[in-house]
Amino acid sequence: MNTPNSAVCARDGCGFYVELVLVDDMPLPTTHCSDACADFEFLRRSLEAMEPAPDVIALYGNLRGVADVLDARTDPTDVGPLLGVIDGAGS
Ligand SMILES: [Zn+2]
Repeated sequence: MNTPNSAVCARDGCGFYVELVLVDDMPLPTTHCSDACADFEFLRRSLEAMEPAPDVIALYGNLRGVADVLDARTDPTDVGPLLGVIDGAGS
């Protein structure tokens, strides 16, 4: 039985409880089990919107590595937000 509060993560298909998160000061229901999955989908969609240049193809390789890390988790919170990590490493 599904309850309105539960959903299935769009990335890895695991079940999670929907929570409201603030996105640009607007409360929106979460669509993924974790920040890592949501960020992963954001990055994947960003890559899909780009021309398939060699550096974009290299980024796809990086993304596959990230997917392996996410799939190896035993708990959705084992991996934190991806975008925060990338932002922190970029400077
Ligand atoms: Zn997930």
